[in-house]
Amino acid sequence: MAVEEPIRIDLEMREDFLSKLKYNPSECYQCGTCTATCPLNGIHEEKLTIRNVLHKAQVGMPADPLVWECTSCKLCETRCPREVDIVGSFQALRGYLYRKRELPTEYEQLLWNILEESNPMGEPKGARTSWMRELDIPVVDGKDTLFYVGTAAAYDPRLQNVANSMAKVMMRTGVDFGVLGKQEPASGEAVLEIGDEAFLDYLLEKNVEQFNDTGVKEIVVLSPHAYNIMKNLYPQYGLEAEVLHYTEYLDRMWSRGNLNFAHKFDMQVTYHDPCYLGRYNGVYDAPRNLIEGVPGVELVEMRDTKSNAMCCGGGGDQIYRNSEDGVRLSDLRVEQAADTGSVNMLTSCGYCIQNFEDSTKTTGKDVQINDVVELVLMSMEEKR
Ligand code: SF4
Ligand code: SF4
Repeated sequence: MAVEEPIRIDLEMREDFLSKLKYNPSECYQCGTCTATCPLNGIHEEKLTIRNVLHKAQVGMPADPLVWECTSCKLCETRCPREVDIVGSFQALRGYLYRKRELPTEYEQLLWNILEESNPMGEPKGARTSWMRELDIPVVDGKDTLFYVGTAAAYDPRLQNVANSMAKVMMRTGVDFGVLGKQEPASGEAVLEIGDEAFLDYLLEKNVEQFNDTGVKEIVVLSPHAYNIMKNLYPQYGLEAEVLHYTEYLDRMWSRGNLNFAHKFDMQVTYHDPCYLGRYNGVYDAPRNLIEGVPGVELVEMRDTKSNAMCCGGGGDQIYRNSEDGVRLSDLRVEQAADTGSVNMLTSCGYCIQNFEDSTKTTGKDVQINDVVELVLMSMEEKR
């Protein structure tokens, strides 16, 4: 008869985990609602039993490496009857595993890339302004408004169009804004997800100093991921400017009558709420106000919407990992979009666009993916 290995209690991990919790561990009464909610458990063979992961960590059993699969979508938290900070708990475990160098191989390189080239993909710093194409956008010195483009939209050829569209919208409205150009830093969000606390601390101190030195009053951010960390963590490092997601910024302009929609459409669209904009920051109305403000556009909601929206699968740094075979969350979401009868799916996050466009190819669903700002620009352009 085989003798089972004794379970080793990792007291160091337990202490580390408990010290980082923002809730009393006894709050979790192991009901398992979180596990039943997690969308990954509908597509992965190996189940992410969230309540077990939390319980094992609380008693000092080795940290479950499945925490690296979490997309940090927060859907489980919205259903938890005890408001347990599940994503924060997972981040604490990731940080511990990182310090033991038990992390997905892609993430080691990602951290080096940020250190050396200021972006997770390792693209050259000098190419960070290629999204501007023909536009002549000044650096931000002496201006009130900074447009923070972010890594994905600065380098990815598809997302460059989103950044370019936003700059054009801002130019058309006559706002006096600038960018950081080749000096634009990584937001640090990718580092936060891995749990490299020392590096995150270094980055955020440096970034906040750089932003404060520009003297800007507001920072308009394209990516909900960068927006989330800048809005919620940067102030703890002394950030002085107000941080706005671009949908909030444009919604403000729209309500003041500063957006002029010249072109009238005749189409139905559906909208996907990015996790880091919706569930993390409660921004549900701003993108919808913009969509519904465009003449001739009818918004049809998907089955899972707003706080119930399904994740695209890109958060928690999953976007930087090699995608697996089999069904992905983005496939399911594109199917939900197609079920509305609309062939136009809008969102306001670069990771979502990347994943959904990929899923339209693998699922064969006839759905056109666009960012909200692309629609806004199209409607501002009179001749199309
Ligand atoms: S974290 Fe919340 S939902 Fe999950 S088992 Fe604990 S109490 Fe239940
Ligand atoms: S945050 Fe999302 S992916 Fe992570 S455990 Fe919760 S429901 Fe699952």
